[in-house]
Amino acid sequence: MIPFNVPAVTGNEEKYILEAIKNGKLSGDGIFTSKCHKWLEDYLGCPKILLTTSCTHALEMAALLINIKENDEVIMPSYTFVSTANAFALRGAKIVFVDIRKDTMNINEKIIEEAITSKTKAIVPVHYAGVSCDMDSILKIAKKYNLFVIEDAAQGVMSKYNNKALGCIGHIGCYSFHETKNYTCGEGGALVINDPELIARAEIIREKGTDRSRFFRGQVDKYTWVDIGSSYLPSELNAAYLFAQLEKSLEINAERLKHWDIYYKNLQPLAEKRAITLPFIPSECTHNAHMFFIKVKDLKERTMLIKYLKQNNIMSVFHYIPLHSSKAGKLMGKFHGTDKYTTSESEKLIRLPMFFKLKEEEILYICQCLHQFYK
Ligand SMILES: *Cc1c(COP(=O)(O)O)cnc(C)c1O
Repeated sequence: MIPFNVPAVTGNEEKYILEAIKNGKLSGDGIFTSKCHKWLEDYLGCPKILLTTSCTHALEMAALLINIKENDEVIMPSYTFVSTANAFALRGAKIVFVDIRKDTMNINEKIIEEAITSKTKAIVPVHYAGVSCDMDSILKIAKKYNLFVIEDAAQGVMSKYNNKALGCIGHIGCYSFHETKNYTCGEGGALVINDPELIARAEIIREKGTDRSRFFRGQVDKYTWVDIGSSYLPSELNAAYLFAQLEKSLEINAERLKHWDIYYKNLQPLAEKRAITLPFIPSECTHNAHMFFIKVKDLKERTMLIKYLKQNNIMSVFHYIPLHSSKAGKLMGKFHGTDKYTTSESEKLIRLPMFFKLKEEEILYICQCLHQFYK
């Protein structure tokens, strides 16, 4: 069976975890957390990175940092993971879903402006499959209405938009290092803080609402409760694993892109025959091959294809059930405008196996099965 995902292991994970154990400090913000912070800050050129326990928690921190309150409105696509919405719903915000673009499956930047009201506080673009949203348009709208932009860049680590890393474009970016993502530590994430004014409070929120970080830097002589917060820092064991992955991230990225290109090239004849639709990468974007998806005719064909691939020992999966049609989404959100593409396009999408150690012959076999199905 060709699995859908296998978490990457690149070589130094065990060694670094053993080092972390020997360092005698397993709680957060030790040597390996610092190494990850420094690596990411150097690579991204952003003012501040804070590792978190997940992207879910990074999003929750973002909602706290921008002071989301009851009845505020937050605009995002409905085609996303629950955490994008949950983070803001937890603070009592109303989630305003807008439709996606058919080509990238990202939020349709053209309908954001009409969804804005006097209650709107933030726009949350989700970079689906690690391919950027139209950030120039989104930043322009945000500036005009004085809104925060929180990038859900869970899938977009190492991707770029006009040569700028995803997560580093809005006020705040949120990364995931979950085992299903390109670079991982099992469960983990990061908050990318691009607005320097948010840094001091971010450290406090992440440390249970205390000024412990300032204490450790010798800036205050004792630490105490100064704000609301929670425990959002990962253990050194996670950071040690993650550091091994970050050091090899260029290699992981190159391998995944190679896989992506083989899929794309070998499935092009099916796209030319209009049997399937291939992913679209806008010219401003360089992506990280987080995902290889195709779109088929409809839900019925998708169900048949997933079954067919399984019979041929290939695990493929569909993706999000649009949030506005979910039980909680109906309670805590509303869809602005018409659902032209969200539901219909999400029903057509299939994700094919994509992971670091995927072999070329496996990809060729998967492509061959797809050709066979459409014969
Ligand atoms: C994976 C993912 C998340 C959640 O990440 P965790 O680290 O598992 O909390 C949030 N948003 C998107 C778009 C994701 O793909």
